[in-house]
Amino acid sequence: MPEQLLQDIVIVGGGTAGWMAAAALSTVLRDRYRIRLVESDEIGIVGVGEATIPMIQRFNRVLGIDENEFLRETQGSFKLGIEFVNWGRVGDRYMHGFGRVGQDLWTVPFEQYWHRLRALGKAAPLEAYSITRMASLANRFMPARPDIPNSPLADINYAYHFDASLYARYLRRLAEQRGVVRIEGKITHATRRGEGANPGHIDAVVLESGQRVEGELFIDCSGFRGLLIEQELKTGYEDWTHWLPCDRALAMPCESVSPLTPYTRSTAHRAGWQWRIPLQHRTGNGHVYCSRFISDDEAAATLLAHLDGKPLADPRPIRFTTGMRRKIWNENVVAVGLASGFLEPLESTSIHLIQSAIQQLIDFFPDRGFDAADIDEFNRNSRFHYERIRDFIILHYHVNQRDDAPFWQACADMSIPAALQEKIALFKSHGRIQRFNNELFTEVGWLQVMEGQNLRPQRHHPLAALQDEQATVDYLESVRDVIAKCVDVMPDHAQYIAEHCAAP
Ligand code: FAD
Repeated sequence: MPEQLLQDIVIVGGGTAGWMAAAALSTVLRDRYRIRLVESDEIGIVGVGEATIPMIQRFNRVLGIDENEFLRETQGSFKLGIEFVNWGRVGDRYMHGFGRVGQDLWTVPFEQYWHRLRALGKAAPLEAYSITRMASLANRFMPARPDIPNSPLADINYAYHFDASLYARYLRRLAEQRGVVRIEGKITHATRRGEGANPGHIDAVVLESGQRVEGELFIDCSGFRGLLIEQELKTGYEDWTHWLPCDRALAMPCESVSPLTPYTRSTAHRAGWQWRIPLQHRTGNGHVYCSRFISDDEAAATLLAHLDGKPLADPRPIRFTTGMRRKIWNENVVAVGLASGFLEPLESTSIHLIQSAIQQLIDFFPDRGFDAADIDEFNRNSRFHYERIRDFIILHYHVNQRDDAPFWQACADMSIPAALQEKIALFKSHGRIQRFNNELFTEVGWLQVMEGQNLRPQRHHPLAALQDEQATVDYLESVRDVIAKCVDVMPDHAQYIAEHCAAP
């Protein structure tokens, strides 16, 4: 028996998911496997997906990507968090910044002392205790300085904004350099083994030209259509629109304006929300909305009315159904990207889900065939990640006090998943946050959104009151003061880019 049976990997689709998978697998698997990627220029890519979360730095490190080159080639910018406007109530504004808030010192988490002082009217807004939030508000950026230990400057957590098409092109070059072969063409159908072991396995995809591309492991990155995972294998889709009812988006770039903000902005509108993603050469915008509550024309008018630069194209419509595939890995097909499911981009999590699917595929990589125990565990983990992120996004919609629009009232009235109900109840009682094992969003992420959407604990943790009140005031004040001083020495975001990673 040959030592390694699995030789041929076929990636179907060359959007962000396809090229991320190709670049990562060609790096990790070296040249011991044949990796081919089939894509169709005629079909093209979804072309949105331009804001990320800090985990992407880990992906870039594994691939050996140089940050400055990467941002130059993708016209990218830095991201320290997301500003939410009009979410709790019209006129509200809060930051969900990356990294920590405050500095733990005594028995219970920092925010418990903050809850105590806030109730006494003696605390500043939460964001005053976080370097990424204060730097965002001042439009400043610099990478962390681990050489200054115990300083907030050593702890600057960030992600990127980039142009999705340039990102796919950048990764393609990298993957091709590492041996991936790209095949241009439109796939018409797939064929199955039909006999012997694993008769349900796909053995080839067939192109319009008649060319057969054979493989043993197929990675379905074909976007919403789920060419293999759904159209061929009929895996099924779990629909979550009763919790996340937005079903359409209009995407539209506009000219960049100054200042170049180091954060994404999400502005809630009457029946959805609008993203704003600052890049070097343009600003990406889009309106995500619920077609039951607003017409396409009204949605387009709302988007146009809230651009802060001259439009560079007409609005481009995209339709989707929030939810996930019943199985992300089925037979010998692993779905990655939009083929695996869709959670709206409110917290920029889709590209992260691509990264985490690739990581999991590496963790459960098959050798002499496909083991049901591995596939089941892969599917359980994928579901866990999807559901935890889903709940976090539902939180933004559900905890609102907007009485100006039926969409928001429907969101406030809807029933929510039990795990989220428990999280909210726990926070309401004593401000405690339960983080499920390995869940993507940390306690600090949940805290900022709960607090930003005006959810208030009835009481703080009892042990927060053991500390002398004036000592607590002084401590919080010192944290705030140090952060303000650190932000003062950070360069302007646009200036940092001009000096290190500006596109020519
Ligand atoms: P696609 O880009 O659609 O690529 C599909 C590929 O399959 C293409 O190459 C196509 O040519 C190929 N293909 C399809 N059918 C065939 C065929 N028959 N033959 C040959 N080739 C075929 N994510 C984030 O992380 N941050 C964000 O800010 C964000 N914003 C978003 C906003 C919106 C409105 C939407 C809808 C999504 C957003 N996402 C975001 C998600 C993100 O866009 C996707 O996760 C990402 O682009 C991956 O897409 P994909 O590669 O799976 O699919």
